[in-house]
Amino acid sequence: MKPEVLVTRKILERPLNLLKEKAEVTVHLEDRAMTPEEIVAQLPAKIALLSMGGDPISAKILESGKSLKIVANYAVGFNNIDLGTATCLQIAVTNTPDVLTDTTADLTLALILGVARRIAECDRFVRAGRWKEWKPALLLGSDVHGKTLGIIGLGRIGSAVAQRALGFNMKVLYTDVRPADRSMEERCRAKFVSWEELLTESDFVTLHVPLTPETTHLIGQEELRMMKRSAFLINASRGPVVEEKALVEALRSGIIAGAGLDVFEDEPRVNPELLHLENILLLPHIGSATFETREKMGLVAVNNILAVLRGEIPPNILNPEIYRK
Ligand code: NAP
Repeated sequence: MKPEVLVTRKILERPLNLLKEKAEVTVHLEDRAMTPEEIVAQLPAKIALLSMGGDPISAKILESGKSLKIVANYAVGFNNIDLGTATCLQIAVTNTPDVLTDTTADLTLALILGVARRIAECDRFVRAGRWKEWKPALLLGSDVHGKTLGIIGLGRIGSAVAQRALGFNMKVLYTDVRPADRSMEERCRAKFVSWEELLTESDFVTLHVPLTPETTHLIGQEELRMMKRSAFLINASRGPVVEEKALVEALRSGIIAGAGLDVFEDEPRVNPELLHLENILLLPHIGSATFETREKMGLVAVNNILAVLRGEIPPNILNPEIYRK
C-alpha cells in the first residue's frame, strides 16, 4: 500500500501528479483553506503533510499526526509552523527557498515603481472617466532612478532586489543581523549601514526579513517617524513585520509619502482605513504568484516529501537536528 499524504490545497498538476506516482494523496479541493479541525481529522494515518504558508501548523495539529514524518511547507517563510514541537516530535519540516526569490524580487520592484508612479491610482483615474486632458502637473509621482533604496534583510530576496535596483541606478543601503560577505556586497553594490542610517537616508525602505519574534513590529511609529517625509515603505515579507496601526497614522498624516504592501498583519483582512488611502498600493500576497514559480514551489515541496518516503534527509530541511543521533 502506498504511503498517505495530505495536501491542504489544490496545487498545480505537475507536482501533484509526481506525488501521486508514489503516494496515496488526499487533496483538499474546496476553494478555501482547511480549518485546523479538518487537518486534525485527516492527519492520523498520513506520513506527510503538504501545507500552505497560511496554514497554522500548531502543536495540536502536529501531535495529531501519529504517523507524520514531514511537513513540507509550500512557502519559503515557515512562521506558520511550530518548529520546536515538530523537532521534539521528530517530524521533518521543509520550505521552498530559492525558486521564488526572483519572482518575489520582481514583485518588490513592481511595488516600488507602482507606488512611486501612482500606477494603481492612475488606473482608477482613467477607468473612472476622470482623464480629460494632459496637464503639466497631472498625477505627478516620484522618480525611482537615482534614489536611495534601503533593504532590511539582505538575504536571498533582499539581494535579488538590490541587483534589480542597480538597473535603475539606485544607491543601495542595507542592514541585517550582520554584514553580508564582501562578494555579496560587491555583487549588489550595497553598503551595510546602521538601522538609523538606513531609515533616515532611504527614499524607499523595503523589508525582506523572516517573521520571527524579533522582527514582529520591526517597523512601528518610531521607525516611521525616522523615515523621510518623502519616503516610501515597501513590504513583501510578512504583514506583522509592520505595525499596521502606526502605518495608517503615518500615511494619513504625511509622516511618510506612501507604501506598497503585499502582506498584512491579519491576512486576508485588510485594515479598512488602508482601503481609503490613495498613497498606498495594496496587493493580495502575490509575491511568488506566477505559474512558473508556483509549479517550481510544488516540485520542491513534493521532492522533499519523496526524499522522506525514500528514507533520505529532505533537501530543504529546517530542523536537521532530528537526524542527528
Ligand atoms: P533569507 O534568505 O533567509 O533572508 C532573510 C534575511 O533577513 C537574512 O539575511 C536574515 O539574516 C535577515 N534577518 C533575519 N532577522 C533579521 C533582523 N531581525 N534584522 C535584520 N535582518 C534580519 O529569506 P528569503 O528567502 O530572502 O525570504 C525572506 C522572507 O520573505 C521570507 O521569510 C518570507 O516571509 C518572505 N516572503 C514573502 C513572499 C510574498 O509572497 N510576499 C514570498 C517569498 C518570501 P540571517 O540569515 O543571519 O538570519
